[in-house]
Amino acid sequence: MPAPSLTITRTTPIYHTLSVGGVFVQWHVNDPETDYTFRVERSESYEGPFEILVSATTDFHAFDPHEISSTLEEEARNFLSLQRKNYYRVTATAPGKATFSDTKILGDELARRQWLLKRKILRDITIGFKFNSIPFAILKRKHAGTRCTACFDPISKSILDSRCKTCLGTGYITGYYAPVYVSARKGVTNVTTTLAPQGKTEVNQVELTVLDYPAVEVDDIIVEVRQGRRYLVKHVARTELRGVPVHQRLVMSELARDSVEYKIVLQPRTSPALY
Ligand SMILES: [Zn+2]
Repeated sequence: MPAPSLTITRTTPIYHTLSVGGVFVQWHVNDPETDYTFRVERSESYEGPFEILVSATTDFHAFDPHEISSTLEEEARNFLSLQRKNYYRVTATAPGKATFSDTKILGDELARRQWLLKRKILRDITIGFKFNSIPFAILKRKHAGTRCTACFDPISKSILDSRCKTCLGTGYITGYYAPVYVSARKGVTNVTTTLAPQGKTEVNQVELTVLDYPAVEVDDIIVEVRQGRRYLVKHVARTELRGVPVHQRLVMSELARDSVEYKIVLQPRTSPALY
């Protein structure tokens, strides 16, 4: 088995006209057997010194808020400070385990001009979304953590109950991270009819356009908040505008109402409408 490692997947600068701006940081850890706690830090140089933003989180992302100013002069000053090179470091710790970390520069590994452009395009899309988008919750599936105590077989490393109430078929306790609420634009719905032994079943395949953060993966669950419909992500494509990735285009299939994913309790939104 490869040594555990952590990869920062997003350091996305966000600029909102409303009241918040900042940097969205997301990471991925490749050790499926351990429940890690993460520390998130920021520095003006790769070597540090680092300033702690979040000392201990078990989530998959963090947000580094920047104030949005009411006057143009202040905003210009904030803008300059954001342009200063910022590095984000995420460190994974677990009892009895060696710690490891990843450090990435602000701006999703794009050249500065590119990420400044990305920030502007994301803002423009967010404004456009106000008129033609609806609220969704992203439930990211766990791929690491404490194995399910009810149905996971440690010898065969397999899930013995795909409808398990403890892990919801994921093999990990609770199954999914707390929801991240986003605005997204629904595209076309295709109805596919398949013949199964129990008769015909119809599957709704829905397209969804979301911003480039948080990074969505196949098997994540998307909830259409108002209607309560839930979808399984089948395909993710990042789409570019003027050479920078700004969207994720998802293809999702609607889950049957009796599927175990409807047992995921949707915790209410606690953070301001950042995304
Ligand atoms: Zn289970």
